[in-house]
Amino acid sequence: MNEQNTNQTANQTPYVSVAIDGPAGAGKSTIARRVAAELGYLYVDTGAIYRTVGYHMSLMGIGPKDKDGIERCIDDVNIQIEYQADGIQHMILNGQDVTDRIRTPEMSMMASGVAAQDCVRAYLLDMQRELARTHNVVMDGRDIGTVVLPNAQVKVYLTASAEVRADRRWKELTAKGEQVRYEDVYTDVVKRDEADMNRKIAPLKCADDAEVLDCSYLTIDQVVAEMKAIIRRKTAQ
Ligand code: C5P
Repeated sequence: MNEQNTNQTANQTPYVSVAIDGPAGAGKSTIARRVAAELGYLYVDTGAIYRTVGYHMSLMGIGPKDKDGIERCIDDVNIQIEYQADGIQHMILNGQDVTDRIRTPEMSMMASGVAAQDCVRAYLLDMQRELARTHNVVMDGRDIGTVVLPNAQVKVYLTASAEVRADRRWKELTAKGEQVRYEDVYTDVVKRDEADMNRKIAPLKCADDAEVLDCSYLTIDQVVAEMKAIIRRKTAQ
């Protein structure tokens, strides 16, 4: 789908949409979750949706580049997003909560693979737009400001150096008890950037009207404060 087409079907809504895009490990989810909680907006982690599709395909024994297999199975994917009392966005795949199973390095690569398939992106587009049509949202991903919500009132491109991002991911994974080497996490981050930025459909790029926020040397509190300042500025009438 090209950007002109998506603009015509963009979110016509009285609600505020905050679109946060950027490369893997820039801290989008941490920041977006906090900003959403502080503003009383709904937080939508779209990466989790692609991860859930990737998880389904891996259960079916379908590889991330198997276009025919993915096309054959995509209609069997029934995804529901549940916001439970723990404040976490729970991903329900065909009735089963898979939230904890989609956060592995394998599922990161699976998600990136299935996300390059047209049928997957088309399948998920309406789900994402519907959430923004009916709520104030902080939505994070790779193509939110460019494709999913091109008319979002606020667009931020959150980035950081590959070294800093890999270091954050590595700390996150080891804190969960995963045995991973920093070098492998770094390689995955760079590979994923490359795949996400160079795919034909909805590649990761900074929207022309997005504010760029480099958080390599900022604390979480500083990024949250900066993000809220941008939102205030952009939504002030
Ligand atoms: O954000 P997260 O790392 O969970 O995303 C997993 C993968 O899902 C990304 O590497 C990207 O390929 C894909 N994705 C996407 N578009 C989005 C969100 C995620 O292509 N809006």
